[in-house]
Amino acid sequence: MRRTRTLAGIGIAAAALLALTACNSGTPSNPGGDAGGDDAGEDSTWFEVASDVTLDGSPTFEKIQEAGKVTVGVKEDQPGLGFLDVTSGERTGFDVDIARWIAASLGYDEEDIEFKPIASANREQAIVNGDIDYYVGTYSINDKRKELIDFAGPYFITGQGLLVAADAPGADKLEDFNGKTVCSATGSTPIQNIKANFPEIKTQEYDLYSACVQDLIDGKVDAVTTDQAILIGYAAQYPDDVKVTGGLFTEERYGVGLTKGDDVLRAHINDLFTDNPEIWQAIFDKNLGSSGIEVEQPEVDAY
Ligand code: GLU
Repeated sequence: MRRTRTLAGIGIAAAALLALTACNSGTPSNPGGDAGGDDAGEDSTWFEVASDVTLDGSPTFEKIQEAGKVTVGVKEDQPGLGFLDVTSGERTGFDVDIARWIAASLGYDEEDIEFKPIASANREQAIVNGDIDYYVGTYSINDKRKELIDFAGPYFITGQGLLVAADAPGADKLEDFNGKTVCSATGSTPIQNIKANFPEIKTQEYDLYSACVQDLIDGKVDAVTTDQAILIGYAAQYPDDVKVTGGLFTEERYGVGLTKGDDVLRAHINDLFTDNPEIWQAIFDKNLGSSGIEVEQPEVDAY
């Protein structure tokens, strides 16, 4: 279901947020106020940090408390979702703010978060190894991954799409690229879909989607395929060079990657999402509100 947002609706969401700031639930204390290019320091005021948190029976939370910091796996080359401005050091994006929100709900501020960039192919292993406490980065929930890890969420839904050169003809199906070369990230669901179901499409793989986008701009591949929400971010970054076309060919439900069996942390994050729709909306509006993406917060799947 889609929803058209109104200015009145945004006003209500902001008022609801202010009313909520007194609750200890990782509530933004400055909702939307620093959108658009302020420094990382100001982002630390975005969520009110919970105090006296107890999560009995969560091995991950125990580890976080011992370390005195939260280690979060993210993407950093996906504008609008998970992005690092290497000049300013500022991290922005919907996923990054979801990660900050979770950290705040556990009692940890921006300065207590260590962000680790982890590519699509390495996510399960990083979680299994305990290199990170949780992962927030366009990470689709699926059964194969659930053999190794658990997911809280979903907190966002998108689907596979295509990015082509700005002057290329539009395409509305993946078969349009039979005999052509399509680029995606190793270990991602879109590359798996192409390899399993579209044998006539040639593939180019990199660890990072930004390398695919560079190849597209350089004319080395015919298209980039991954989740449309990711591609929309690149189209906004390089509007003269590339454009989004086609989709949504699949349903990609984004979850927070967690250590398998940490049901206490999973329930905590699921409750955070379910109980605070206004905060989800504020995070969406701040990061993707002007992107053209229209999506509602999905219901969590508390399996
Ligand atoms: N959501 C897809 C996946 O989890 C593609 C995006 C990504 O690689 O992060 O594989």
